[in-house]
Amino acid sequence: MKVLAILYNGYEAATAEPRLLGTVENELGLRSYLESQGHEYIVTSSKEGPDSDFQKHIVDTDILITTPFHPGYLTREVMNKAKNLKVCVTAGVGSDHIDLNAAVERKIQVLEVTGSNVVSVAEQVMMSILLLVRNFVPAHEMIENGGWQVSEIARNAFDLEGKVVGTLGAGRIGYRVLQRLVPFNCKELLYFDYNALPAEAEAAVAARRVQDLKEFVSQCDVITINAPLHEGTLGLINKELLQHFKKGAWLVDTARGAICVAEDVAEALASGQLRGYAGDVWNVQPAPKDHPWRHMKNPLGGGNGMTPHYSGTTLDAQIRYAEGTKAILQNYFEGKPQEPANIIVGVGKYESKAYGQR
Ligand code: NAP
Repeated sequence: MKVLAILYNGYEAATAEPRLLGTVENELGLRSYLESQGHEYIVTSSKEGPDSDFQKHIVDTDILITTPFHPGYLTREVMNKAKNLKVCVTAGVGSDHIDLNAAVERKIQVLEVTGSNVVSVAEQVMMSILLLVRNFVPAHEMIENGGWQVSEIARNAFDLEGKVVGTLGAGRIGYRVLQRLVPFNCKELLYFDYNALPAEAEAAVAARRVQDLKEFVSQCDVITINAPLHEGTLGLINKELLQHFKKGAWLVDTARGAICVAEDVAEALASGQLRGYAGDVWNVQPAPKDHPWRHMKNPLGGGNGMTPHYSGTTLDAQIRYAEGTKAILQNYFEGKPQEPANIIVGVGKYESKAYGQR
């Protein structure tokens, strides 16, 4: 079979650090396994436009491996060229870069390595909340720039203790964030999700479910987004909803950039409606040089905690999602059942509820 992987270039870092498995250079550690089984394995980072390797090879690829960090956008149009495609494997979590409805229609399975990087992201969320609330980035920049003016930093620095923190989405990542927030003695922990957490899980973190989105955002000092991108979450955080946020709230999105409307967030930060915004996910990846999130600031010149998409691709996470990808391929080649939690789209139907209640 022909297996095509779209990964990011690691350059010198990937040569020096073989645990950077999710790179073009290190090929998810799959080459010897795949070739020993008689399969052809193509790995590339070239993914944009009709002349890309992605579009050239997709025509006769049987199995496509992609990652959310350097997403090969498998639109309906590109899928229509993929005459042999049977399985898409996301090395990581989040398959929104694939047109899932089209995959259902075409009976192309979509699998991901569920859970592989949820701790990595939950830790990043905690870091991002703290760096915003404590005004860390401008403090560090001041030091690098040779300055020392404590009042300029402290005027916008707060404690997390005593704040109301809410997660939009209380799945694997959202719940781990709630668990990690418990020792910070927040005033209250809230969540907004389609479904209630099991009573025991809810009690363990003393979280309260708020069922109306506007009510939810209006009560939170800090909001963290931990829901997948689908029709119901695309552009969910927009100008209108941002008006219902508490003035000066902090927002962290490590789920998917397109859940937030980029210009509306930048405007809310500039006006002070948001005090800070942090995350690692962007509506287009790699983000263009002029993307408003690269340079947006609050009225005091801080409040921007953006990074490139890396929270779920720590070296620890890369081992887990590389091993998980191999296990999915092995199951497929050997005709064994897949882990149910890994199946997003089975043959001709959704198997996961997470990409929208259908
Ligand atoms: P998960 O376990 O499936 O949890 C997602 C939760 O979001 C589920 O509880 C789901 O509800 C809920 N949800 C879906 N739509 C919602 C909506 N409109 N409003 C409120 N809640 C909604 O997934 P996860 O492992 O926590 O991952 C969540 C997302 O994080 C992934 O889809 C991916 O986009 C992102 N992620 C980012 C990185 C990174 O590196 N930055 C890494 C991994 C994952 P139900 O299940 O009840 O329907």
